[in-house]
Amino acid sequence: MSAIKEHDKKQIVGTYARFDLAIVSGKSATCWDEEGKSYIDFTSGIGVNSLGYCDDEWVQVVSAQAGRLQHTSNLYYTAPCVELADRLCEATGYDKVFFGNSGAEANEAAIKVARKYSFDKYGEGRNKIVCLRNSFHGRTVTTLSATGQDVFHNYFFPFTEGFVFAEANDLVDVVSKLDDSICAVMFECVQGEGGVIPLDEAFLQGLISLCEKKDILTIADEVQTGVGRTGTFLASEQFGIKPDITTLAKGLGGGLPIGAVLCNEKTSGVLSYGDHGSTFGGNPVVCAGANVCVNRIASEVFLEEVRRKSLMIKDALMGIREVESLNGLGLMVGIKLRTQAAKEIAQKCLKSGLMVLTAKEKIRLLPPLNITDDELLKGLEILRGILLEYEEPLL
Ligand SMILES: *Cc1c(COP(=O)(O)O)cnc(C)c1O
Repeated sequence: MSAIKEHDKKQIVGTYARFDLAIVSGKSATCWDEEGKSYIDFTSGIGVNSLGYCDDEWVQVVSAQAGRLQHTSNLYYTAPCVELADRLCEATGYDKVFFGNSGAEANEAAIKVARKYSFDKYGEGRNKIVCLRNSFHGRTVTTLSATGQDVFHNYFFPFTEGFVFAEANDLVDVVSKLDDSICAVMFECVQGEGGVIPLDEAFLQGLISLCEKKDILTIADEVQTGVGRTGTFLASEQFGIKPDITTLAKGLGGGLPIGAVLCNEKTSGVLSYGDHGSTFGGNPVVCAGANVCVNRIASEVFLEEVRRKSLMIKDALMGIREVESLNGLGLMVGIKLRTQAAKEIAQKCLKSGLMVLTAKEKIRLLPPLNITDDELLKGLEILRGILLEYEEPLL
């Protein structure tokens, strides 16, 4: 075993089941291990490296900002975060932004906004949030509470109170939960960790209009689906909805830690001086990197390319017997297998030089949004080859 792997096992808390691979460098959608073996990356560091490894412009802008001003506190103004907020509002139609450092933090902030909105307007007691079963919203104690999967509600008692669960795509079930104690509904347009499951358009539209009537806020967790991942800047655009709050994180910084809460006119004035904060939130280096991502991704030409590559994936994988179904939107793809375990297929892919993810029982693909056709075809050829091994022999 290499020194990296050995020391990791000895001194890093064992919360991750890592693949047997130490990555040392990368470019575009290709990376290299300690022996110089190359891998095509269909994971983007779980949807984070939206422009792939070490994009030229991103590296240049981030390095320049690191050499100019790496951090100051939120007691002072800086340009990169203001520019990013401006670009995000322009790309999404939202009114104001709060910056944090991760998806869970963005969701925590959204939950605070929803509860305070209701407290300010209706007083105490109207503070519960309806979340969907099979959702994933983060690893902090509160966002675990908001996550609609029982496996996450263990050991760490007491969890934060005030979350109620409804069945995804079941409007009747959601309606039955919308009593006077509810201040918000939170959902992922495509449930990511839950197995790449897009919600029904009619369900989401019905949900939004019901919530509007009752002045219940809607929160879209676009931590995984946002910033071009699904082929539109926000996934909600494809469902024809405009939630009161949208959270972003993973792909926003292109590889640096950032989370953002987008607020509409109704929610942008809820948090005021001292109500919330983050030491690192809006960091100039991180925001400079995010600006490169947003400037590049929020263009119809770029997003059209994401949708075209999505079709390339579907074309390559359709008609393979081992592929029971293909799900997802844009470059967020779930592959349900007929006979094989996703984890084992992922291991086989890695041995053959392709990195893929899993989500529940599915293979999950989240390639960089700007992956080259060459890399995409090369990776798909590896995946096809492995899946075709399970084709029944012709009689
Ligand atoms: C990854 C993810 C989170 C958590 O993000 P972190 O940055 O790990 O805190 C929350 N919601 C969704 C939908 C995610 O995919």
